[in-house]
Amino acid sequence: MARREYVSRHGNLPIDQNLVVTSLTLRLGLFSGVDKGLLKRAFQVALHDFHCYWPSTPETQQAECDGVYFSPTTQLIIEQVSASIYCRECGSHYPVSQQSFQRHYLSCPNNHRHITQLISGDEMLLINMQMHPESASTCISEAFKNNNTQEGNSHV
Ligand SMILES: [Zn+2]
Repeated sequence: MARREYVSRHGNLPIDQNLVVTSLTLRLGLFSGVDKGLLKRAFQVALHDFHCYWPSTPETQQAECDGVYFSPTTQLIIEQVSASIYCRECGSHYPVSQQSFQRHYLSCPNNHRHITQLISGDEMLLINMQMHPESASTCISEAFKNNNTQEGNSHV
């Protein structure tokens, strides 16, 4: 999918070129239910495992990832955004901060009633992915180098 997206924006990508992802940007709403610190930690673990344990041969590598790789130093950038509600009585939108939520839940700050609707703040969206083409042979040899040198090096 990332490969198709890249081709649609930048034109053709030769078959011997892989795409290397260098950064991901996520937008995390105040009420997404996702902890930023835990997500960053989980991402580091997944990235480590990607380079240590997967895939085992150039053939399976090519088949399974569609020529898209994560750089060992891929950045996970998280933008945390506040929430907003719509009050059906006032017909207005209002921002909701962590503090106001703890005090008044999702009630309208104007009439203090709960005839409101959460408009934003529960999202977790991938909003940007940076990647560049790289020769397929480079990617595979890099992955193997990592695979061999980091073997048995556990993250837990
Ligand atoms: Zn209101």
